[in-house]
Amino acid sequence: MRKALLLIACILIVGCGGQGTDGPDAGVNPFFVAYDTPFNVQPFDRIDEDHFVPAFEEGMALQNAEIEAIVDNPEAPTFENTMVALDRSGELLGEVSRVFFALSGSNTNDEIQEIQKQMSPRLSAHRDEIQLNPELFARVGAVYEQRADLDLDREQLFLLENLYERYVRNGALLGDEDQTRLKEINQRLSEPRVEFGRNLLAETNGFKLVVEDEGDLAGLPSAVVETAAATASREGLENSWVFTTHKPSMLPFLTYAENRDLREQLYTAYTVRGNQDNEFDNKAIMAEIVNLRVEKARLLGYETFAHYTLETRMAETPDKVYELLDRLWDASLPVAKRDVVEMQAIIDSEGGGFELATWDWWFYAEKLRKAKYDLDDTELRPYFERNNVRDGVFYVANQLYGLTFEELEGMPKPHPDAQVFQVFEADGEHAAVIYMDYHPRESKRGGAWCGRFRSQNRAGGVEVDPVINLVCNFTTATEETPALLSLDEVETLFHEFGHALDGMLANVTYRTGVRSPDFSELPSQIMEHWAMAPEVLKVYARHYQTGEPIPDALIAKIKNSSFFNQGFMQVEYLAASLLDMEYHTLSEPRELDTDLFETAYFAEIGLIPEIISRYRTTYFSHITGNYAAGYYGYTWSGVLDHDAFAAFEETSLFDQETAQRFRTEILEVNGTADYMDMWTNFRGREPEIEPLLRNLGLQ
Ligand SMILES: [Zn+2]
Repeated sequence: MRKALLLIACILIVGCGGQGTDGPDAGVNPFFVAYDTPFNVQPFDRIDEDHFVPAFEEGMALQNAEIEAIVDNPEAPTFENTMVALDRSGELLGEVSRVFFALSGSNTNDEIQEIQKQMSPRLSAHRDEIQLNPELFARVGAVYEQRADLDLDREQLFLLENLYERYVRNGALLGDEDQTRLKEINQRLSEPRVEFGRNLLAETNGFKLVVEDEGDLAGLPSAVVETAAATASREGLENSWVFTTHKPSMLPFLTYAENRDLREQLYTAYTVRGNQDNEFDNKAIMAEIVNLRVEKARLLGYETFAHYTLETRMAETPDKVYELLDRLWDASLPVAKRDVVEMQAIIDSEGGGFELATWDWWFYAEKLRKAKYDLDDTELRPYFERNNVRDGVFYVANQLYGLTFEELEGMPKPHPDAQVFQVFEADGEHAAVIYMDYHPRESKRGGAWCGRFRSQNRAGGVEVDPVINLVCNFTTATEETPALLSLDEVETLFHEFGHALDGMLANVTYRTGVRSPDFSELPSQIMEHWAMAPEVLKVYARHYQTGEPIPDALIAKIKNSSFFNQGFMQVEYLAASLLDMEYHTLSEPRELDTDLFETAYFAEIGLIPEIISRYRTTYFSHITGNYAAGYYGYTWSGVLDHDAFAAFEETSLFDQETAQRFRTEILEVNGTADYMDMWTNFRGREPEIEPLLRNLGLQ
């Protein structure tokens, strides 16, 4: 199976169109009234930037009152009056947060950024007030002590243990002085993260490679040229072509542009983002984040931040993470070095007279790919029209779980570009609503992710159905062609849809779930295997003009090239994963020049000069947030997804019994059960790494 390790943030956030209204409800904050929308989705058309701060404030006030009621309850603490009440608290705050943070990711503006800057420390302080409330913790602790006698079911016990540990991990057992310092640290940590993201967006949008000489376009496919011309005309530039550091613009340029100087300019602009000693520099910000985390971990009694973080994850310890990453690093580096030799041979045979540099990799890898596998991206794209690929995703969901999809018209949408679908179970019951927002714009951050406007639960006694938000940055349509996706983008759509299935098929009672990056990529990454299965390609990969299914010869080429460039992809990815671990296994705060730190570290592990880490420190936004000491999670999940898919290979592609077990043992309970238990219930044994090594050709 072709397997790109995709860098995709998978965070639980959402987006909103934010237009005010002059209708009869003008002046009413939509968060404060019943929505009166189909499926009770958020009324995006009525939500305005001005509604957020009052809704945040009201949400916090309501939750404070709920917490007070729990604490003041004269009855002895019980699971119901403490844990369930806590799980139910903060409903409005959760609602406005999901909408707001979605918007800040996929449809932001200056006002939203300002609100985010203003609200982040306040929200962090609010969370701390609850996490460090001694009376509340006393009640939680009292229930926790009785847990063996309470006759709790699996989810209830998990909720109780998880919430108790969360309190402890947030400092509930610390003395007053340490708690005060912890609050300060959390407060300070909430600010640089926002600043980091804002700087990165400014740097990403700040660079444009403007091509005015048509000769500089040599090598580029016509669709790429058209897109660049369209970008230029949006910028008001005549007779020019504009390329940006957004990946759908940059990667085709690096792959095809014969002008080596321009490749260098563009890739360099990408890799220096946040590292230009200007007002948007992220070096000191990352250093501050890392140091605050060390201090926090030490305060809580952990050796390092990674020890603290990993304790609740499937991996459990830094040693286990390094064991996996080192093993793959050792297997991948020789493969990448071999590719360097082969590419240098091409350069030399063409009389290039230079040594392969980082900005050359895509260009010569593409030549190598053509020479070895005769597989050409432009030959594939016509079979990957966006809506055809989407229907392929729906087909797989139908074959595995019986789901069907119907596009909805006239719905409120988080952005006008989004498509919206109703999802039905096999028996015709409503299952979920999903928004799909495919293409880049300046108000959207890079990458692809899948969030939830609403998570399934029945905490309040009634069934709440999921509302899912899938966001990507795919190649756009041009005047001549519809949106034709690259192979990577096809895999990304299947990937993100796996996260969507994880949300749509959840079947839990409580709202408090947990997500671990090393497990939550299993539902997404396993979907990529079906994307490239020949039987599935035959169904959805149809030529956008003729409707002809993809020829067997092309499928064979895809299959043959599945090992291609794995050395590069693994090394690029593992370097970033190892860098993340290196920062978060520091045991003392220190004077930290992140530039020197990363350079020294990459030299130490033997990263070759022809490859730059998939993320350098100053644009590694994953690790400013929930993926700190967690970027390895894609690889860890990679072990799981290859081994899980092997269960289908051992039976059949859509084996119903295996699919049902994956659904009930993993998708339905994810977030409310122990990871290893979920896994062994599905697979019948502990995970094995061999399927991953075999599929990547690294064995
Ligand atoms: Zn993901």
